[in-house]
Amino acid sequence: MIEDNIFVLLGAPGAGKGTQAEKLAREFHLNLLGTGDLLREKAREETQVGSQVGQIIERGELVPDQLVADVVRERMGSSGGAGGFLLDGFPRNLAQADLLEQMAGNTPIGVINFRVDEEVLVKRLSGRRFCMECGKICNVYFSPPGKEDVCDACGAKLIHRPDDRPEVVRKRLQVYREETEPLVAFYSNKEGFFGVNGNLDPQAVFEEISGKLLRLKEHTGNPPLSVDR
Ligand code: AMP
Repeated sequence: MIEDNIFVLLGAPGAGKGTQAEKLAREFHLNLLGTGDLLREKAREETQVGSQVGQIIERGELVPDQLVADVVRERMGSSGGAGGFLLDGFPRNLAQADLLEQMAGNTPIGVINFRVDEEVLVKRLSGRRFCMECGKICNVYFSPPGKEDVCDACGAKLIHRPDDRPEVVRKRLQVYREETEPLVAFYSNKEGFFGVNGNLDPQAVFEEISGKLLRLKEHTGNPPLSVDR
């Protein structure tokens, strides 16, 4: 059953993983686990660890592996053990991929790799705005709000995530290339790896991924995972 697998969304910041994650989790009944969101939550805690995590995120660097792994384990444990998981933003380096394999045990891991051109990534990140109230995301280049800095959905103020500022975006992309991109080679020869063209609009990307996941559901049981790349 596809619902019992772990799926990893792999790709650079701005590749569209977060947008797809929410829709895919709903469609395929998977528990969504986004480490960026969980770590931003941790950063809001008024503790020493919280403030350290906040500073690391603002610099565009990676939070230490063990801390991330603890957050992931805690969230997986609190799901009550039901259903599979969709991981957005984890693993982000080879050490975390090893940690994930240990956590997964015999559960098959599928990997969806988002291929996106660098200039698209930069525009998506630097143009991205978040609503502080309802969480809606828009982009000043691709989906501008009707009124500048105001959420179309609820009228609250839109914010520019501090780590979406141009100098931090450059750092995050450098960290991606050095730390995360090697995971493509690590996973690409394994069962259950496939790539998507993340340059396309969100609906087209969703349809491409869904189609591949549905074929996986029709043709394979549990395990192995196998799909056209
Ligand atoms: P994201 O929302 O996925 O772009 O993540 C925002 C920030 O959270 C990243 O730039 C990192 O500082 C931190 N972060 C998210 N996931 C991880 C991870 N798996 N390992 C280390 N740091 C992470």
